[in-house]
Amino acid sequence: MENNLHISAPFGSDTLRSSSKIIDQFDRKFDYLRLAVNEKCNLRCIYCMPEKGIELLNEDLYLSQLEIKRIISLFAQMGISKIRFTGGEPLLRKDIPNLIRYAKYKCGINQVYLTTNGILLNKYISQLEAAGISGINISLDSLKPERFEKITRRNKLEQVLSNIKLVQDSKVPSLKINVVFMRGFNDDELLDFVELTKTSNLTIRFIELMPFDAHQIWKTGKFYKSEDIVKDLKNQVKGLLPVTGSNTEHYIFQVDKYLGKVAVIPSYSRNLCANCNRIRVTADGSLKNCLYSKEEKSLRDEIRKGASDQELKDLVCNSFFAKHKDGWDAQRTEGNIRKSMTQIGG
Ligand code: SAM
Ligand code: SF4
Repeated sequence: MENNLHISAPFGSDTLRSSSKIIDQFDRKFDYLRLAVNEKCNLRCIYCMPEKGIELLNEDLYLSQLEIKRIISLFAQMGISKIRFTGGEPLLRKDIPNLIRYAKYKCGINQVYLTTNGILLNKYISQLEAAGISGINISLDSLKPERFEKITRRNKLEQVLSNIKLVQDSKVPSLKINVVFMRGFNDDELLDFVELTKTSNLTIRFIELMPFDAHQIWKTGKFYKSEDIVKDLKNQVKGLLPVTGSNTEHYIFQVDKYLGKVAVIPSYSRNLCANCNRIRVTADGSLKNCLYSKEEKSLRDEIRKGASDQELKDLVCNSFFAKHKDGWDAQRTEGNIRKSMTQIGG
């Protein structure tokens, strides 16, 4: 078997993980899988993709449906309780409802989520509901048609808004709106986004820009630090109360008497690393033990070489055992540089 199935842990081989639960040297437990299922997209968000799209690999270098299912089953055996399908745009795959059903009912993964740009939801909402989806995150950075088009390079705001309405009217238990928030870009829409929580039980999530963007916008002074977003929320929104949210929702609020919530996600500031529970697998089958790490392990290659389930589990456990303390340390690693978030899945 290849060397990378037996990576040395920092404290010597006696500390290699033999259990199939995923735990690291700092005793963090990993039970949330973010699985990117393609790199293609029907939008070209300027902070994510170049106008012409990214250079795609040969089709056979992406995980097949069978390989995706094997990976889901493997992680289910390793104690994963939550999975999120992402991409690229996951709804460009027709088999997404099938994969959700497989994760939920065949593998017993309780919480199965999807992150999407929302454009194709009208085609899939009934199938997603029937497949038992736990929640949908829809990315939407502006409520202004011209600005939406400038950001995504496509004129699709109306479609996304009408699909948000479809989710609100469906039985899907949770709806969150991801807003990549930047200064001089969409920060003047802060109150408009907050107002969406008045009559609807959805969460607006203001997300810090991360340095995985084709145009390196984050170097242009538009970066809006999570703590500043929180400060501005507190200054501008009357009746803002702190409440509780999910693991990544470090700052979470509700406006008094409003139905929904407002969260701020410090994805660049990285002050949530001590509580990290995330595992990432890219569409080409690489395991990432940190969003910011360039060290990757190819599950695809090991699967194609005939690795057993136990060998794959060892690969995962050893990779996570050696995970860096935080995203700042991980950023200093050498390896595969992913230029666009569409290759990582967010
Ligand atoms: N296409 C789907 C969508 O847009 O929701 C799923 C994939 S997308 C890569 C997942 C999330 O990453 C989206 O919420 C998107 O806004 C976010 N994202 C993409 N590039 C980003 C960047 N450079 N910084 C912060 N978030 C980013
Ligand atoms: Fe596509 Fe999502 Fe990237 Fe926008 S953020 S270009 S919708 S993958």
